[in-house]
Amino acid sequence: MPASRYDLDRPALADLLDGEPRYRVDQVWAGLHDRLSTPDEMTDVPLALRRRLAEVLPEALALTSEATADGGDTVKWLWTLDDGSRVETVLMHYPQRSTVCVSTQAGCAMACGFCATGQAGFSRHLTSGEIVEQVVRAARRARDADRRLGNVVFMGMGEPLANYDGTWSAIRRIHDDLGLGARHLTVSTVGIVPGIRRMTREDLPVNLAVSLHAADDVLRDELVPINRRYPLADLAAACEAYVEATHRRLSFEWALIDGVNDRPSDAAELAGYARALRAHVNLIPLNPTPGYPVLGSPRARVDEFAERLRSLGVNATVRRTRGTDIDAACGQLRANHEITRVELTTR
Ligand code: SF4
Repeated sequence: MPASRYDLDRPALADLLDGEPRYRVDQVWAGLHDRLSTPDEMTDVPLALRRRLAEVLPEALALTSEATADGGDTVKWLWTLDDGSRVETVLMHYPQRSTVCVSTQAGCAMACGFCATGQAGFSRHLTSGEIVEQVVRAARRARDADRRLGNVVFMGMGEPLANYDGTWSAIRRIHDDLGLGARHLTVSTVGIVPGIRRMTREDLPVNLAVSLHAADDVLRDELVPINRRYPLADLAAACEAYVEATHRRLSFEWALIDGVNDRPSDAAELAGYARALRAHVNLIPLNPTPGYPVLGSPRARVDEFAERLRSLGVNATVRRTRGTDIDAACGQLRANHEITRVELTTR
């Protein structure tokens, strides 16, 4: 696979531009990372070099479709990679900042039953350049809208810790080269214990979010099959070590599924598990997944569940569902595009 625009670190870029004076390498590096420019926008660089850059450093992400919702506050892109794989990126504008949700794999091997990506299977890991470029594209769009990209969440398609090297190298690049602080980066995992342990030894204390969805091994084995390999007790021990080492707040994601994990007994189990780790709980009203018959819990039950958690001493937030009308749940844009050929604004 040829290197794409954001796959190269600085020494590799200098090698690629061998023969150019050092200040030119600096200019190109600053153009790509400080100004988020494409080669043709680098007007401080001679035209011949701009052309060469466009050729030797191609973009990784070809736009397939774009959809917006929430009055333009949510933008979702579907990209095609050089081998034809498809991934998605979601940019969400909030009053103070914008957040981008990036994919780390094309498809996902974790097979969570309620997830469209899980149903479609695994294609391949993304390179760090393919992940970083999603952030750059989103940062450019935010800038064009007079907003500032403030947070990156690794919560799109794929399991970030199953692509540990690609994900961690992207985190380093986003931190070191794009200048986003560790507290603004959040890795979301379904609970890959060795990956959490490895993150514990890294020197960047990013936020950790765990997609929990059940706090009972029997139910979790069913909803999140990787639980059979890394059961709840092992997961809790790894999370505890992470929090102790990094002093970052841990959060649990809990997609509320009607009649499955929204009962008072589920809230009690979750409260016990979360309190022991002083974790924050994000409740996610589930988006409908095409071809999957489960239903999200009705709004009244979502609020009741949140209240119950609070009364049991847990900090719980009900996440605002972004872009339900453009299928903003994990993997759904791709699923819809392929299964039902939903018409999206194509650029
Ligand atoms: S929910 Fe996340 S980990 Fe599970 S199948 Fe979907 S993308 Fe993979």
